[in-house]
Amino acid sequence: MVIETIQARGITDERVLEAMRTVPRHLFVPEEEREYAYGDFPLPIGFGQTISQPYIVALMTELLELKPGDKVLEVGTGSGYQAAVLASIPGVEVYSIEIIPELAQSAKERLERLGYRVHCKQGDGYYGWPEHAPFDAIIVTAAPDHVPPPLIDQLAEGGRMVIPVGPPGGYQTLWKFVKEEGGELKAYNMGGVAFVPLTGPGVEEHQHEGGMEWPIP
Ligand code: SAM
Repeated sequence: MVIETIQARGITDERVLEAMRTVPRHLFVPEEEREYAYGDFPLPIGFGQTISQPYIVALMTELLELKPGDKVLEVGTGSGYQAAVLASIPGVEVYSIEIIPELAQSAKERLERLGYRVHCKQGDGYYGWPEHAPFDAIIVTAAPDHVPPPLIDQLAEGGRMVIPVGPPGGYQTLWKFVKEEGGELKAYNMGGVAFVPLTGPGVEEHQHEGGMEWPIP
């Protein structure tokens, strides 16, 4: 696949590389896109949405620094591919939320059929999944223009969050946050990315709240 590309671009976590080797990306894309499934680029999955580029999936997974026993929340299930990669990391429990009902349903069925243990839910991931919080790791695979405060609240102390933040329709910044003991957030700029926008009532009601990319320390 694109493992050589992914490794050449600096992904070294063997558990992430193994997950990228084993999860069958061609079973997460529409049939007419299957021949392109192992190229290092995003592909359309319907409803104006995409399955992310494999390198970005690998990078975001590595940045989460997952350990056995960790509980991880994904916002933006899409095809279910990223969730399957997360579920392939030994000892990690995965929760995933998708806002588009048809994608939420098809991803849930696909993940079950392929044997990946992922707790799936349809809804607005802006608000996280409070019933299962706190999470040791949170990954957001669509871009809001600010960091949703409920996700910060639902991140455990010592937890890591990886999230693209920026204006819709352009490039965004990929941020990694680490919540220190005591609740202080450390922010690390991981570079430029291009994601579809986070949509839904949560992000729309709070758009531009506190200024662009608030509250990045
Ligand atoms: N992780 C996905 C995968 O592996 O296929 C790709 C994600 S795609 C780039 C972004 C997804 O986020 C879309 O399926 C979109 O519908 C979803 N999304 C957008 N806003 C959302 C929200 N507020 N809550 C949950 N999902 C959302």
